[in-house]
Amino acid sequence: MQIKTVCIFCGSSTGSSPEFEKETAALARYLASNGIDLVYGGGDAGLMGLIAAEMVAAGRKVTGIIPEMIDGKIGKIDGVETIVTDGMHGRKKLMYELADAFIALPGGIGTLEEIAEAATWQQLGYIKKPVSLYDIGGFYTKLNGFLDDAVGYGFLKQVHRERIICESEPADLLGALENYSGEVIDKWS
Ligand code: AMP
Repeated sequence: MQIKTVCIFCGSSTGSSPEFEKETAALARYLASNGIDLVYGGGDAGLMGLIAAEMVAAGRKVTGIIPEMIDGKIGKIDGVETIVTDGMHGRKKLMYELADAFIALPGGIGTLEEIAEAATWQQLGYIKKPVSLYDIGGFYTKLNGFLDDAVGYGFLKQVHRERIICESEPADLLGALENYSGEVIDKWS
């Protein structure tokens, strides 16, 4: 499938290693050089602000989707089109509609919640779009271990587990997103 817009979930902090910022900026430049636009959570904080600023600087369309309660409390990146939603659910719904693929960069609880929800909706067939982890510096090793354990313990089907893409190079990530079939594999069969 052709990827025109990605939704990126990532930390509202920059993390403890300069590698997180360096690789986030590199991914932004790679996506921009492939003509890809960005949807994200809005604001200028942490890796979120960095990826938005890099993609704006590269001339891409960047849309920040932010709930009313947070809007006004956070700084904005010049050049980002901001859409304010009623609440968190409206925000997610719009993100799911606007993006062709979902990517989690390193982050905290917010990032985990967002990518887990996208993977859940994918597993149930509500979204037919790829869901992925971008693994900077082995950040997602333990989450991958958890997912493998969930399969091993019989809580997650291998076919659904395999659908959660994990890559650590920009070209590999985009290739995997483009190769995603979108076919729904029934959780209940
Ligand atoms: P966290 O990983 O806990 O830093 O949370 C980051 C994720 O939660 C982002 O992908 C955002 O969608 C959302 N989020 C957290 N903090 C903010 C913020 N200050 N402004 C906008 N969105 C935020």
